[in-house]
Amino acid sequence: MPDLETFRTDVRRWLDANAPASMRTPPAHPDDVCWGGAKGKYPDDVRRWLAAMGERGWTAPTWPSDYGGGGLSKDEAKVLGEEMAQQKLRPALIGFGLEMIGPLILQTGNEEQKREHIPRIVRGEVRWCQGYSEPGAGSDLAGLQTRAVRDGDDYVLNGQKVWTSYGDKSDWMFILVRTDTAQKQGGITFLLMDMATPGVQVRPILLISGSSPFCETFLTDARVPRRNVVGQENGGWNIAKMLLRFERNMIADVFKARDDRSRLLRMARQYLPSSDDGRLLDPVMRDRLTQMELDQLCMDLTLSRSRDRLKAGQPPGPEASIFKLYGTELNQRRRELMMDLAGPQGLGWEGPGFADDELTLTRDWLRSRGNTIEGGTSEVQLNIIAKNVLGLPD
Ligand SMILES: Cc1cc2nc3c(=O)[nH]c(=O)nc-3n(C[C@H](O)[C@H](O)[C@H](O)COP(=O)(O)OP(=O)(O)OC[C@H]3O[C@@H](n4cnc5c(N)ncnc54)[C@H](O)[C@@H]3O)c2cc1C
Repeated sequence: MPDLETFRTDVRRWLDANAPASMRTPPAHPDDVCWGGAKGKYPDDVRRWLAAMGERGWTAPTWPSDYGGGGLSKDEAKVLGEEMAQQKLRPALIGFGLEMIGPLILQTGNEEQKREHIPRIVRGEVRWCQGYSEPGAGSDLAGLQTRAVRDGDDYVLNGQKVWTSYGDKSDWMFILVRTDTAQKQGGITFLLMDMATPGVQVRPILLISGSSPFCETFLTDARVPRRNVVGQENGGWNIAKMLLRFERNMIADVFKARDDRSRLLRMARQYLPSSDDGRLLDPVMRDRLTQMELDQLCMDLTLSRSRDRLKAGQPPGPEASIFKLYGTELNQRRRELMMDLAGPQGLGWEGPGFADDELTLTRDWLRSRGNTIEGGTSEVQLNIIAKNVLGLPD
């Protein structure tokens, strides 16, 4: 289509002129990946790249330009993605704002909430975290006990959240609270909360590896304005479920368009013997690698179809649970395969004798174990698929 080709030329020119050279290489350190927010300390080029893309709205290419988004059609957004991939450019921004709460506010927020939050998400000014889980409410999320009691124009919040990923680095939280104790699902409200609110205390949870993305969040008489309710008071359960579908799509997508696919093949060449014409000699490993590539390709194509529907403005349905279930288990298989390929070199944790790549291998493998827990466990996804996709009885 001639218009799209003109657009492609313009995009290419703009990226040539605005993308810092260092953004054409993978991040040297996980902390260099830009999640935005006021608390993030990023290298200058990361900041410059975010500012350029954010101003253009291209961090959220298909979001409406009225709220700072790129206003691109899904075909134009695809062209932008292709050109960025062609130039090996990393995304200027990632995170829960773009993938979870932004799409949710666009679908269900009121006009005031869209105007307040969407432009700041697009520009990466605010980093968001998720306040769902509590010590007694994980899979049984509707059992949550954090109370919100009305007082004038505010709610007063008391309770505790747990496993708040990056709570200590975030500026705002979307949080589920109990506004009615007489009903379980029907007593939950979905709120937007500034983490700087007095009475909000975040404590990182230390893991055996020495650091952790997890936090506990304590709420003691924290006041949140009533205008920060998304939807209606006591109507938060359906909104919470819609957000989980965005989250499950995001988690399922954990490998798409990442360097890890080519990394797997690079690793096979590095660690396994091959014939003079480059054929891997080990037939079992050859078979496992081929199966992995095929399964990933099928997953990518199915996910792309679903993504196209999302870009066209349709909210994800319960089928997001299928992607979450399959994508996370595929990721774990991929990590296992990488460990098997590396053999003893996959045992590196720190110290000499291991390349940088090898040092991250074990950590990435361990991290992937959490994929089938976060955003709802695999067992919970199977329950949802059985009930809401296949229509089986309870
Ligand atoms: C990496 C990671 C990041 C996370 N980030 C966040 C975050 O940012 N914000 C947040 O709010 N939470 C976060 N969580 C918490 C996550 O949502 C919960 O851990 C998850 O929902 C499971 O709850 P639970 O840990 O209480 O386990 P439980 O609910 O106690 O489950 C224990 C076991 O019982 C099984 N089980 C429970 N109920 C059923 C059932 N009805 N049928 C069959 N099996 C069942 C589960 O599948 C699981 O195997 C994160 C978790 C991880 C691992």
